[in-house]
Amino acid sequence: MKVFKFGGASVSGAGNIRNVKSILQQYTDGPLLVVISAMGKTTNALEAVVSAFYNGNKDEALRLFENIKGDHLQLCAELTPEPLPELSDFFTEVEWLLHDQPVRNFDYYYDQVVCIGELLSTLIIAHYLNCEGVGNTWVDVRDVMRTDNNFRDAKIDWAFTGKKVEIEILPLFDVHNLVITQGFIGATDENESTTLGREGSDYTAAVFASLLGTESQTIWKDVQGVMNADPKLYPGAVWISELNYREVIEMAYYGAQVIHPKTIKPLQNKGIPLYVRSFLHPNEQGTVIHNRKITSLPPIIVYKKEQVLIELTARDFSFVSEGLNSEVSQWFQQVKFKPNLTQITAISMLCVTDNLEEKLDQFAQSAAHLFEVHLRKGLHLLTIRHYNDSILEELTRGKEILLKQQTVETVQVVMR
Ligand code: ASP
Ligand code: MG
Repeated sequence: MKVFKFGGASVSGAGNIRNVKSILQQYTDGPLLVVISAMGKTTNALEAVVSAFYNGNKDEALRLFENIKGDHLQLCAELTPEPLPELSDFFTEVEWLLHDQPVRNFDYYYDQVVCIGELLSTLIIAHYLNCEGVGNTWVDVRDVMRTDNNFRDAKIDWAFTGKKVEIEILPLFDVHNLVITQGFIGATDENESTTLGREGSDYTAAVFASLLGTESQTIWKDVQGVMNADPKLYPGAVWISELNYREVIEMAYYGAQVIHPKTIKPLQNKGIPLYVRSFLHPNEQGTVIHNRKITSLPPIIVYKKEQVLIELTARDFSFVSEGLNSEVSQWFQQVKFKPNLTQITAISMLCVTDNLEEKLDQFAQSAAHLFEVHLRKGLHLLTIRHYNDSILEELTRGKEILLKQQTVETVQVVMR
């Protein structure tokens, strides 16, 4: 058995969905579970609907939702003349909600509305495939993927979900080799919809791979596989044919947007290889991520833009004796904020963070009791793993370097 995940870009528009069909047709000789995201930028569009609703702009929310609805209906009609009445049920569900007044917190409404993106995309694609003779079963993942009620960042109940997978998903493969379901969403024990965090579909696929003990997981993307840098930022980027789990976790930690960071652990636990392949060039091999020791990797380059350097200087020398860095981490925790880099000296501490105004303000307020606080904005954080002198020289040439940290494997530079 295999698990595939198709992201938003791979299913945006009728042409891409036809392409997905031709990929799937090559793999339906054995059991295959396919996890699909919302189409294109639908999740962002739905976020705008919830914000309008929550801010009391009901008409605006309904108007924005009308556009999303129109796009999906048009796409469905473009793919097949066969009607799909189930779509209306989902539309109505959201419209009812939008007519209410918000009485619960934002995150709750976010999940109830945003989950519709993946339900619509999978419903349309499953329907189209069935019309085209690619027999499949559509599953509402909310009947299977049980989570807690930590809306927008829900945690999976592995034991319950595992049982559901066994009872509800496994028998479906007796009917069709192909089962289609949603990524990113789940439900609580009270049947309220939840989401697992943006870009969470990779993770959903990994949960299924782990619970079903599949031979592999494949993520189909618009790039040839994992690259050593973002080609938009670094034109010399090259494709990497093989990585191990550890390297991918490190890359995600430093901010590379390759694969959702939670994806790796379930796969690593079961030793399931992860393939990252291009839906545009489905015959190319892509990148494999597994447990092997990998000896020669190119330098891996990660940029984080819009960084802020926070300089905390102790007002007196007590910093040295009292170890105030634990206080600093507490202030960060209080505002659910995490520095991307820290450096401690005898009387000062440097932290590099993302530029999140509100969190920075709150943090600075706490810190001002004990420290002089100085912020410098508009910086870049460059991380290079497996670096050499020449690449470091090339990428920092002409820049002002404010902070540098170096281990044998990794160098990080804050610069402008
Ligand atoms: N549709 C969701 C998002 O855009 C989940 C995903 O694509 O993985 O964040
Ligand atoms: Mg996506």
